[in-house]
Amino acid sequence: MQQWPRPGILTSMFTALIDRIAEGLPSQCLICRAWPARPLCADCVGRFTPRTHRCATCALPVPEGVARCGACLHDPPPLDACHAAVDYGWPWTVCIARFKFHSNPQLARTLAALLARAPAVTSAIAQADCVLPIPMTPQRIAERGYNPAWLLARQLAPRKADVGTLLRTREAAPQRELSRAARLRNLRGTFMAHPARSAQIQGQRAVLVDDVMTTGATLREAAHALRQAGAAHITALVFARTPVPGA
Ligand SMILES: [Zn+2]
Ligand SMILES: [Zn+2]
Repeated sequence: MQQWPRPGILTSMFTALIDRIAEGLPSQCLICRAWPARPLCADCVGRFTPRTHRCATCALPVPEGVARCGACLHDPPPLDACHAAVDYGWPWTVCIARFKFHSNPQLARTLAALLARAPAVTSAIAQADCVLPIPMTPQRIAERGYNPAWLLARQLAPRKADVGTLLRTREAAPQRELSRAARLRNLRGTFMAHPARSAQIQGQRAVLVDDVMTTGATLREAAHALRQAGAAHITALVFARTPVPGA
């Protein structure tokens, strides 16, 4: 019997079609409304992507010359490296909301291009064996119609982006009100490497991609699953990093 896409997917397909038509047209800058911009103007990109020195393993801002923040020195994360394009704050909160809730391919391309400009991101992708978006459950994808992390991964590394190797077994309860320790407990066991794809992980260099890193609990848990599956090296790439965890 013919399986028709669910309504969420139909809406997303329609939005993607409209976006594709609109893609060739000039538009206003999402931030300052200057015209024309696709979809951010050069002034806003320059103004809101200041060069920021970041901790090598959690991407929190640290003073120039400092390799790792105190938290990473005290409790090293399962990530070998972590890079971010911007701090999570206005106007990126607005752009990311737009990106997450309206599948806008132009915006995915722009955010991925800004992330690719951050130090060490291009070399991390070049050295990677696989580039894995933080996965959503099939139910969540059906509700939203797409996974924003997958759109970013596909833009960053079209030939290495892989959606089937890291799986999400369940959605954790909402994380917003939880402390860092509670988030880690809440997320435990939510990710696993696909049992039939161990060759893609064993001894390999993996890059994890997500749109926003808040406390890092999600990336830690995903990295833990990859480490258990035998990954040799794990780098996380996130578009925006919350400067003060839990804020
Ligand atoms: Zn602008
Ligand atoms: Zn750190």
